[in-house]
Amino acid sequence: RTWEESTIPQQLLDVIEEIGYTEPSPIQRQAIPIGLQNRDQIGIAETGSGKTAAFVIPMLAYIARLPPLSDENRGKGPYALVLAPTRELAQQIESETNKFCKLLGYKCVSIVGGKDISEQQFNMRFGAEIVIATPGRLKDCIERSVLVMGQCTYVVMDEADRMVSLGFEDVINFILDSLPLSNLKPDTEEAADAEKMTMMIEPANGNEQAESTLALYRQTVMFSATMPPPVERLAKKYLRRPAIVTI
Ligand code: AMP
Repeated sequence: RTWEESTIPQQLLDVIEEIGYTEPSPIQRQAIPIGLQNRDQIGIAETGSGKTAAFVIPMLAYIARLPPLSDENRGKGPYALVLAPTRELAQQIESETNKFCKLLGYKCVSIVGGKDISEQQFNMRFGAEIVIATPGRLKDCIERSVLVMGQCTYVVMDEADRMVSLGFEDVINFILDSLPLSNLKPDTEEAADAEKMTMMIEPANGNEQAESTLALYRQTVMFSATMPPPVERLAKKYLRRPAIVTI
């Protein structure tokens, strides 16, 4: 299967071609169509499989359907968040995401430990659609109101097993509970209604009402090489009926 046979919007197909990815990797073949349907998912995949683009491409398609950042909404924070266990991984994800963002005109900022907070705050001053963060530093920024998360409705937890083995389970709970729409817990009536409305939206149909409905429910994606109990707990708490993809 080629890229063209997928449901990826044309604008993104052009970007993928320009980047030079001639065909999707196996994890991308599986994960991208599910992500484009706004379904939560758990991807079991290791670094080197192309997993970053597997969650970045649907994330960018999601952002493309939201209003562009403007003076009015910039101050509400990013549209999408990627959590990663270490600074090194966060920066790797940032550089992969930036290949796309540069061509699409989006901004992606990393918020990681070991760097000056005021510098990261400075990088955010004109707003950014995407934040890539390590959990400890992000919690710090949220608590100190350096960063607000008022419109972040797309979340990726990358290498979730490594994040919990580094002791970040509570911090991840804090961060995800502080995002909008956290009140819509899976399996409540309210959540079922919101989900029904989200499902009715035709992808990228440019309909104004559809676009405002799109953000009704947070889309949450988790990647992990293994599924120890703390990772299962996070999945159960924050993902609604996730599709599981594995290669
Ligand atoms: P990852 O597993 O996300 O760390 O990706 C591993 C490497 O594969 C990165 O350097 C990507 O830039 C590259 N890559 C991802 N998807 C593709 C693709 N479809 N074709 C060629 N290279 C890719």
